[in-house]
Amino acid sequence: MNAIDLILAKRDGGRLEDEQIDWFIDAYTAGTVPDEQASALLMAILFRGLDAGELSRWTQAMIGTGTRADLSGVGRPTVDKHSTGGVGDKISLVLTPLVAACGAAVPQTAGRGLGHTGGTLDKMEAIAGWRSSLTADEVVAVLSRSGAVINAAGPDLAPADRKLYALRDITGTVESIPLIASSIMSKKIAEGTDALVLDVKVGSGAFMKDVARARELAEVMVGLGADHDVRTTALLTQMDVPLGRTAGNALEVGEAIEVLAGGGPADVVELTLALAAEMLELAGISHDPRSALAGGHAMDAWTAMVRAQDGDPDAPLPRAHEVEVVPSPATGTLARLDAMAIGVAAWRLGAGRARKEDPVSAVAGVVWHATVGDAVTAGQPLLELHLDDPSRLPSALDALPGAIEVAPAPASVPAPTLILGKIP
Ligand code: URA
Repeated sequence: MNAIDLILAKRDGGRLEDEQIDWFIDAYTAGTVPDEQASALLMAILFRGLDAGELSRWTQAMIGTGTRADLSGVGRPTVDKHSTGGVGDKISLVLTPLVAACGAAVPQTAGRGLGHTGGTLDKMEAIAGWRSSLTADEVVAVLSRSGAVINAAGPDLAPADRKLYALRDITGTVESIPLIASSIMSKKIAEGTDALVLDVKVGSGAFMKDVARARELAEVMVGLGADHDVRTTALLTQMDVPLGRTAGNALEVGEAIEVLAGGGPADVVELTLALAAEMLELAGISHDPRSALAGGHAMDAWTAMVRAQDGDPDAPLPRAHEVEVVPSPATGTLARLDAMAIGVAAWRLGAGRARKEDPVSAVAGVVWHATVGDAVTAGQPLLELHLDDPSRLPSALDALPGAIEVAPAPASVPAPTLILGKIP
């Protein structure tokens, strides 16, 4: 086999054979195909795509570079959720214990944030003592006992993706539907879940800026799930406006705990319940997630989940020493609160990282006191920028011009529609 043959075939619009795909994924993961050739092939795929057969094989080969976990010993139906990444997206923190409280096991393998979108592991690490790395045996033991795990991807979880993703990140080849789909689905299939609900974000703060591309990505991922015996559905959800009222690690844990306690922002509650209903349906469990939330069972499952990973659910969350307030520029109805700008501001304050080795601040982030559709008054505190490193403030403020728009009263601006579609 020769990488040049694959590059030329794909460059010229041809198909890759199964054996070529298996060889390339193994050889690149093992380091015998150099980055230059892998980059050229990824760029050819970005322009030419992969057909359904090629993509299924590509994903299978990625899974095969590690092991597919066996969760059959857990004793409950397994079901997970994956979000393609948004701003203020703390849904996994509430959803994982909620669905566990309803009787399923949720083997959530989570990642760290990169760029303007936060990562679930970074958020959970704001909790004193919490550790993200469980062994495979620990995962099975915790899932059998309490049903909820949020765990870092181990070295055996589709290792090809770690190399391919790092290369895509520096070669302009992230935004390819087959490459995104295979990256996400190889990890979720390898995780061992029986069923999966995808939350495919659409809008300014998401990878997919328009509904048509988001739908295409969702359809491709749902198809890959079916190819690999993972029952999969997807919701398309809006990400023009950030979710909830906070973006930042400890801030989002605090908001998730409010929702688990029966309060919290309406959009976070609505999306959590919608995703929970999908997950329970796929798991074959008939249980009303609303009652598990209202009855405190989801909070009990949260406490058990945090304790099982050595976290202290009663420890106060860290708070920023410095808070800069941004006032509303006018009186009227908030008509725009741009998810991308809020995400970039939170990231620049220290909540996210520019390179994957960078540390993150637990306390940095943004709080918004109103969302789109709410009445605001000129001068009222609209945003709070939380930080522990004052040198970061100017660049965070630079992200905000154009992010906020107030329509004069009595304009009526509807709250954005949260759920835009479902696949299949
Ligand atoms: N998340 C992933 O895991 N992979 C991608 O390619 C994009 C988002």
